[in-house]
Amino acid sequence: MNITLSRRQLLAAALLLPASTASARKRGPRIIVVGAGFGGASCARQLRLYLPNADILLIDRQARFLTGPFSNGVIAGLDEVAMITRHTRDVATAHRVRVLIDEVVTIDPVKREVRTAQHGVHRADRIVVAPGVSMRWDRIEGLHPGNSDAMPHGWLGGTQVTGLRDRFAALADGARIVIAAPPNPYRCPPGPYERASLMAAALQRRGHRNSRILIADAKDDFTKRALFQLEWDRRYPGVIEWIPRALNGEVVRVDTQRHHLWLRDATMPIQADLASVIPAQTAAQLAIDADLTDETQWCPVHPQRFESTRHAGIHVIGDAAIAAPMPKSGFAANSQAKLCAAAIAADLLGKPMPKAMLLNTCYSLLDTDAAISVSGYYAVVADRLSVLSEGISALGGDATQRRSEAEQARAWYRTITRDSFG
Ligand SMILES: Cc1cc2nc3c(=O)[nH]c(=O)nc-3n(C[C@H](O)[C@H](O)[C@H](O)COP(=O)(O)OP(=O)(O)OC[C@H]3O[C@@H](n4cnc5c(N)ncnc54)[C@H](O)[C@@H]3O)c2cc1C
Repeated sequence: MNITLSRRQLLAAALLLPASTASARKRGPRIIVVGAGFGGASCARQLRLYLPNADILLIDRQARFLTGPFSNGVIAGLDEVAMITRHTRDVATAHRVRVLIDEVVTIDPVKREVRTAQHGVHRADRIVVAPGVSMRWDRIEGLHPGNSDAMPHGWLGGTQVTGLRDRFAALADGARIVIAAPPNPYRCPPGPYERASLMAAALQRRGHRNSRILIADAKDDFTKRALFQLEWDRRYPGVIEWIPRALNGEVVRVDTQRHHLWLRDATMPIQADLASVIPAQTAAQLAIDADLTDETQWCPVHPQRFESTRHAGIHVIGDAAIAAPMPKSGFAANSQAKLCAAAIAADLLGKPMPKAMLLNTCYSLLDTDAAISVSGYYAVVADRLSVLSEGISALGGDATQRRSEAEQARAWYRTITRDSFG
C-alpha cells in the first residue's frame, strides 16, 4: 500500500475525518445527494456521467412530487396536474443511481454522515445538499403551518397546489382574490405575478368580468415589472392591482378562518374570497440545522464549485444556496448542479477545476399562448458570481413574439424535466 495514503488514513481515523480523496478514488467514491428536485436529481445524473464507478445515493422524502414550473397553470385550471407530476424512483432508473425515499433527519457536515428516519446513518466522501426552501412563519401574525392550507401558498408542490386550484375553480363572478407576494430573496421571483396573470386569463375564459386580483407585495419592485404591467393593461384591464410595500402593500396579519388580511398600518382588514399567502423564505430547515447557513439563513458557497464555505466536502446547490445574482429557479438549480458535479469529479480524479459558466432563463406565462422571459449568463469573477450578459423580452413585443415565447417555455419545460428527472 502507498505510504502516503496509509498515513492519511490513520490521520483521518484519529481526527474522525471522512475517508480521503485517494481512498475514495481506489474503491470508487461514495456520494450522497440530499433532495431529488431540480438541483439534486440533475447533480446525481451528472455525477454518474463523470464517475461511472461511484456509489451515488439520492435521498428524498417524497416518492411523488409536483414541479414548481407550470404549477401556476395547474392552479388556474389551464394545465393538467399530470403534466407537472414526477416520480422520484424514475430518477433512479434514468440516471443509474440508488434512490432512497426517506426523511433526512440530520446531516453531520464534519463526519460527512447523513441520518435518515427509517434507514439509519450513511457515510460519504462528498455530500451534495439540495433541499430547497422552508417558509418563515414568524413574519405574518396569525399564519402558521397548521392553518396555511386555508390561504395556500402552493409554493412547495404537494396538496396545496391542487387545494388552491380547487378553491379557485369554485369562485363565483365578483370574487376578490388576494395574492400576498414575499420579500426577497425567495423561490421563483416572477412566480406570484405569473400566478396573477394566469388566474386573470382563466377568469376571462369563464366570463367573470367582475372578479378582481389584488397583489399585496412585501417589496417595491419585481422582475419584469414593466412587461407584466404593460401586458396586464393590454389583456386584463382593471383586473389586477399591485400594491407595493411603499404603499403599505405588505400583509402583516391574517385571520384564516374569516379570510381577513391586514396590510401594514391598516386598521380594517381586506376580506378575500380566496387568498394565496406566500410567506418569506429561508434555506430548507435541514440546511439550517446542519450548520450550512449564515446569518441570512441561506447557504454561502464557493461559486466555483458550489462547496459550502462553512464545511469542506459539503456542496449546496439550488434554492438553498446563496448564488445571487442568479435567481432561485429550477433552471439555475440545474445549471449549478452541472458545475458542482464537474467540480466534485475533477477534485476526486485529480483534474483541473472546470470553468464556472452558469445559465438561467425564467419564462413567465401571461396566458396559455403568451409568455415573457428574462435570461442571464453568469461567470465567477474574483470568487464572486457576476452577470456576463442579460436579456429580457422586448417591451414592444407583439402577440406573435409572446406566442413564440410561450412555445419556447413549453419546449424548455419538456427539455429540463427530461434532463433533470429522466
Ligand atoms: C409557482 C412556481 C413556479 C415556478 N416556475 C419556475 C419556472 O418557470 N422556471 C424555473 O426555472 N423555476 C421555476 N420555479 C422554481 C423551481 O421550482 C425551484 O427553483 C426549484 O425547484 C429549485 O430546485 P431545488 O433542487 O433547489 O429544490 P426542490 O426542487 O424543491 O427540491 C428539493 C427536494 O428536497 C427534498 N427535501 C427537503 N428536505 C428534505 C429532508 N429533510 N429529507 C428528505 N428530502 C428532503 C424535497 O422533498 C424536495 O424534493 C417555480 C416555483 C414555483 C413555486
